[in-house]
Amino acid sequence: MAFNVAIDGPAGAGKSTIAKAVAKNRGLIYVDTGAMYRAVALYILRTGTDANDTEAVAKVCVGADITIAYEDGVQVVYLNGENVNAFLRTEEVGNMASKTSAIPAVRAHLLNLQKNLAANNDCIMDGRDIGTVVLPNAQLKVFLTASSEVRAKRRYDELTAKGEQADFDKIKADIEQRDYQDSHREIAPLKQADDAVLVDSSDMTIDQVIARISELCDEKA
Ligand code: C5P
Repeated sequence: MAFNVAIDGPAGAGKSTIAKAVAKNRGLIYVDTGAMYRAVALYILRTGTDANDTEAVAKVCVGADITIAYEDGVQVVYLNGENVNAFLRTEEVGNMASKTSAIPAVRAHLLNLQKNLAANNDCIMDGRDIGTVVLPNAQLKVFLTASSEVRAKRRYDELTAKGEQADFDKIKADIEQRDYQDSHREIAPLKQADDAVLVDSSDMTIDQVIARISELCDEKA
């Protein structure tokens, strides 16, 4: 049976940075499910579909054929055969993903892809509903969080370091809006699984969080 680690938590908690590092030092594949939701959101944007029209999104999303490959250890998301990694990390796509991921048909569209990846690979998968819905039997579940202030500051620093314009208050408001949407939706809301270990990274360095989660992996391996 494959060894599965589930990492859930709100936007900007550092899940992908941490999961990538733990994957590397424990020989696991890193599966970024947020990128899959972002690829569907990109498709919805490109088709000009109104995200508030649930029925239209449900119909259109089945046209988004999402596949995953690993190239030099990096997850590459293909949308209808096109490598779309370069388009996924914008605020526009993230905000759209938060809206469209609340639609049951969008979640159903991605669930099997995620389950199959986990069944066939020792992996660490991050998202919002991994421990609760996608991998309820994962050997290790972590709920990684941090205050919205700290998460907004990290995102702000990341953008300004890349030379991009950033507005701290807007980033914080967006994060809080996404937290609200992700945790109040009817289907697969963001919440800590009963058997997940809570890690609050507000006052921890990245290295401390990586060390803590790697330790938890060793306990369960
Ligand atoms: O984690 P990331 O910010 O890339 O995710 C983008 C959006 O996709 C999230 O705001 C969330 O609404 C959605 N998502 C989800 N379930 C997952 C992963 C992401 O609903 N497992």
